Amino acid sequence: MGKFIGKNRSLTTQLTVSVTTLTLVAMATITAISIWSQQQTLRRQLERQADQLLEAISISVGDALTGGNEQFLETLVEENQRREIALSTRIYQTDGQVIAEDSPQVGESSEGEPLVGQLLETNRTLFRWQDKRLIAGKAVIVEGSPVAAVRIELSTALLDQKMFVAIATGLLAILVTGLVAVIMARKLAQSITGPLYQLGSATEGIAEGDFTQTIEIPAYEEIGLLTHSFNTMSDRLRELFENMADRTADLHQSEAKNVALLMAIPDLMFGFSEDGTFIDYKGGRGDTILKPQGELLQKSVELVFPPELADLYLKYVNSTLQTREIQVFEYEWFINGKRRHFEARFAVCGQDEVLAIVRDITEGKLAQFELQQAKEAAEAANYAKNVFLANMSHELRTPLNAIIGYTDLLQEEAEELGYEDFISDLEKIRQAGKNLMGIISDVLDISKLEAGKMTLCLETFDISTLLLEVQTTVLPLVQKNGNNIEIQCPRNMGSMYADRTKVKQVLLNLLSNAAKFTESGMISMSVKKIRKEKTAQDQPTQSPPQSAADSSTESEPVNATEYVIFRVKDTGIGITPEQKQHIFNAFAQADPSTTRKYGGTGLGLAIGQRFCKLMGGKIFVDSLADGGSTFTVCLPVMVKPPKNISWSVEKYN
Ligand code: ADP
Repeated sequence: MGKFIGKNRSLTTQLTVSVTTLTLVAMATITAISIWSQQQTLRRQLERQADQLLEAISISVGDALTGGNEQFLETLVEENQRREIALSTRIYQTDGQVIAEDSPQVGESSEGEPLVGQLLETNRTLFRWQDKRLIAGKAVIVEGSPVAAVRIELSTALLDQKMFVAIATGLLAILVTGLVAVIMARKLAQSITGPLYQLGSATEGIAEGDFTQTIEIPAYEEIGLLTHSFNTMSDRLRELFENMADRTADLHQSEAKNVALLMAIPDLMFGFSEDGTFIDYKGGRGDTILKPQGELLQKSVELVFPPELADLYLKYVNSTLQTREIQVFEYEWFINGKRRHFEARFAVCGQDEVLAIVRDITEGKLAQFELQQAKEAAEAANYAKNVFLANMSHELRTPLNAIIGYTDLLQEEAEELGYEDFISDLEKIRQAGKNLMGIISDVLDISKLEAGKMTLCLETFDISTLLLEVQTTVLPLVQKNGNNIEIQCPRNMGSMYADRTKVKQVLLNLLSNAAKFTESGMISMSVKKIRKEKTAQDQPTQSPPQSAADSSTESEPVNATEYVIFRVKDTGIGITPEQKQHIFNAFAQADPSTTRKYGGTGLGLAIGQRFCKLMGGKIFVDSLADGGSTFTVCLPVMVKPPKNISWSVEKYN
């Protein structure tokens, strides 16, 4: 503030001095010119006066000399002296001799004589200004020739007096003007520096954070403009400051959140410069792997990490900066003799800096490794189980075939020999053997399917012939529970290319289930062909329509796949929505009481579904509890051999 005031005063003084000096110089110049002009005028007046006087004297002198009355000249001079017309009067002959004079001491003046010579050479009046007097002279011309010369001296006292007055007036004018100039200049300077001072104080106020500062607008246009601009700036600054205060509060809140977030992240974080120097560091949770922050910052990665790891870090720092994309890599590091796994993510941060987020993934890696081992062990066990089941089933089939074969022989012999009592028992043995053979076959099939060993035997066969065979086979079973069966097959049904045995097995299973779970009801089987347009989804694998309701299409689309739809419908006990979820799983039945009441192994639908999928088809079920069931088999008319069969880990329902 003091500094500013000092400058302000200096400016006022400077302005005052400058304006006053300028005014004084101007005034002095004007006064000097005026005095000089006045002096010249007064001199001309005195010269005119001298000239008139000389003219009068010359005439009198001429007359006196012409008339030979030289005595008159003395009288004339004395008269001039007496009347104080001139300080002195002197009359010369043409040779320079004084004829008459009023004061001899004047005539002895050294300036008188040279003037006489000049006077006689001209008819003009000559003047010579000396201190406090004017010397004037004129030739006396008679009939065109100079006969004498007159010389007078006039006093300049009156002129000097007038000049003194003029100079005194001029000096007074200069003094007054100077005073007025000082006062005016000071006022003007203050009118300029006053607002500037206010401006300075207000600016300092703003600098100290007081944005309420405003300045009164003065009358002067330029200063008024300046203060108006300042007031506008001050208002704008106040608004900005208020906004900034709000934003700063938001920023602090957001920063606090970010810091909390950052601290909550368990990962290690590094900041690297372009050359791999640590420029920032946040330790991970429970982090013991690195040196303290102080020992790390401004150190090269090569000084902190082992050479291979440092090279890896430097490589990814470079590639991150070059590609400007996030780089992710994993590495191992032995800490306290134990292998640890880390995942590092590098991202560009700022112009030439890289942010590295490093996560200790050791636990996850170990869990993943254990999971992989457990999965492999489970797969190996499953494979062993399937191999065992397949081998065991195969081994059981041979003696069982022998038992069934010998039972047939014994039955025939018992009939021939008339052992009627044995026949019914032998029939029971044969039937049990057949059932056991069916179960073993199912177990063998499911084992082969799960081991991925099931193959397809594709052939072209007539569909209606197949349906007739199925109907014949299943008829005794249908009739056993007092059911009726109806087969709907269009005459021109044609053929299909598929694994005939497996299609037959699927249909037999569905019909025998319908017969088993329906009493005194109706069982029907229908068949038709539909076309379904191929979609991108259908391309890689053979995929059947989503439900049998997709049914027939009138027109034949390009790239369409033709499907055969077998539909087995009954009026039996039905299946609840919950039961529907798992009836296609191996060894699964609708509920535990099923086995007790109806028998069975829970393998039929599982095997059927897998057979259909193997051929690019599927089985759908639509049923309600106590509302009967409808099973729909959907198979391509032209089954393509599967390229890569790997069924061991796949779920089939
Ligand atoms: P299984 O018949 O040997 O028990 P499936 O795999 O053929 O085995 O059938 C699984 C289960 O699905 C049956 O136990 C039964 O609960 C249910 N199920 C199958 N077909 C029908 C049907 N037509 N009506 C009612 N339930 C059925």
